Amino acid sequence: MASIRASIVLAAVIACGCVSTPAPAPPPAASPTATGYDHTQDLGLLWVKHAAEYRAIAEQVYGAATAALPGYVADTSWSAMPEQSGAGKLPPAVILDVDETVVSNVDFQLTFERPFANHKLDEWSSNYQSLAIPGVKDFVEAARAADVTVFFVTNRPCELIDGVDDPCPQKGTTVEDIHEVGIDVEPEFVMLSGEQPGWDREKLVRRKLIAENYRVIMLIGDDFGDFVPCARKKVVAPCTAAATRASRTDALGKYDKYWGAGWYILPNPMHGSWTSVR
Ligand SMILES: [Mg+2]
Repeated sequence: MASIRASIVLAAVIACGCVSTPAPAPPPAASPTATGYDHTQDLGLLWVKHAAEYRAIAEQVYGAATAALPGYVADTSWSAMPEQSGAGKLPPAVILDVDETVVSNVDFQLTFERPFANHKLDEWSSNYQSLAIPGVKDFVEAARAADVTVFFVTNRPCELIDGVDDPCPQKGTTVEDIHEVGIDVEPEFVMLSGEQPGWDREKLVRRKLIAENYRVIMLIGDDFGDFVPCARKKVVAPCTAAATRASRTDALGKYDKYWGAGWYILPNPMHGSWTSVR
């Protein structure tokens, strides 16, 4: 029923070209929910929702990234992509993830009936006002003021919706979510998983595509896979082995020079590739 309602809303938006004003997030679901999930016992979720510490860390991350912008713009030998070299003549760009990096989904996490499904997040995003991660708007404004192009690379997937004649209806939802947090963006700078052939959940493929035309001076995200290739349990080309806790710890050391210096990671105790590796 709910997904049908979302489809109708999306179809109406596509048909008339207009965008309705989304509602504020509803209060958290009753706890425990029908499927037994009790958000009042989830410390990670409560921390993101309520802790000043969470907001302070997010502002600290974006403050550090903003302060570092001029240096990385000026140093044309610098790239935040280990795979990139000889990019000194290319214009600078930064790559941001979307969920829990630009847009906070904490209110969705407080409300949705487990288990997670992509259509549940898409429905939520279509119907409710997005919440900004603290600090991101000022960072994007500073980057653009320095003539740095801003890309948004997300693993929100393109999935067909019944009754909607669009191979990737989630694209419009994602662009609109970014607009809702106060950041203007043209759709070509938002890249979803599955939007083009080869754009799978291994973000390295999309990062390399951007690096063909831009010197990538920063990566910003909340998931190891926003930075490190082959960080997931599920094996996706070009990766050949599942990530493990041990392999991810090794990668921490391998890429040691980038953390806080070109790579800026935000905290996310609610979800992510870290939850499935063993
Ligand atoms: Mg994310």
